Order: sequence, then C-alpha cells, then structure tokens
Amino acid sequence: MTDKVQQQVVDLLRQKKMRITTARVAVLSVLMQAGCPLSQQQIADRLGPEAPDKTTIYRTLMSLVKTNLVHKAFVQQRQWLFEPAHHCTATQCHPHFTCVRCRRTECLIGVEAPLVKLPDGLTMHRQQIRIEGLCALCQKR
Ligand SMILES: [Zn+2]
Ligand SMILES: [Zn+2]
Ligand SMILES: [Zn+2]
Repeated sequence: MTDKVQQQVVDLLRQKKMRITTARVAVLSVLMQAGCPLSQQQIADRLGPEAPDKTTIYRTLMSLVKTNLVHKAFVQQRQWLFEPAHHCTATQCHPHFTCVRCRRTECLIGVEAPLVKLPDGLTMHRQQIRIEGLCALCQKR
C-alpha cells in the first residue's frame, strides 16, 4: 500500500468529518487501488492476514456508504460490489459494462448518460447504469 493512497484516504475521511480508523483507512485504500468494484470477501482477500474481521469490514463499508465515500455498484453472484465514489457525480454513478461472454465488468469512467425523466412523485437520488454486451477482446474471438 503506498503512502500516497493512504494520505488521499485520510484526507477524504477528514473531509467527511469521519474518525480516522485503521479499518476505514485499510478498506478505502484497497477500494481506491482496485480499479474495479470489489465484494466484501475480495476486500478481505486483498488485505490478507492483516484484514479486520468480517463484522468490522461490513460495518466499515456501511459507514463509508452512509457518508457517500463508497457506493454500492451492483450485485454479482448475490453479493454487493463496492467501489469508491470519487469517479461519480452527485446525481450519477459512472456506468458499468459487463461482457456477457467473459463476464468481466469494467468501469466506464468519464462516461455520462442523460438523466432519465422520472414520473411525477418520484425523486431521484442517483442514477446507476449497467450495460451488457461484448468486450473488445471477445468480439475478436
Ligand atoms: Zn458511484
Ligand atoms: Zn469479454
Ligand atoms: Zn465502477
């Protein structure tokens, strides 16, 4: 884990006026370095032997989601995948593209879709878009 990422994570927690805990720094640093959404188990795996216990990781994730530092990206194999919210806007998460053949999912950073117009009576918090299709590699096969 690089000092630069850790410093960035500490700054983010400070901005949200969250207490700096070892678990928060560890979990958010892993997500920042991942480059793709991760499940709770994948986060634990990447932290290795120094990983906090399951309950702590879960509570840490929930506190990061509550302050919007982390977003729940989507469900895969009945598990939520989490990612840092720094590539999302207030109204919209960056879209995700899942290849139906190799099942790989990529983050489409910088890609924005028009916000859908909701029927009366509904209020939008955030729009999340997930696209299915064939990735560049699988199209060549
Ligand atoms: Zn997001
Ligand atoms: Zn593919
Ligand atoms: Zn993403």
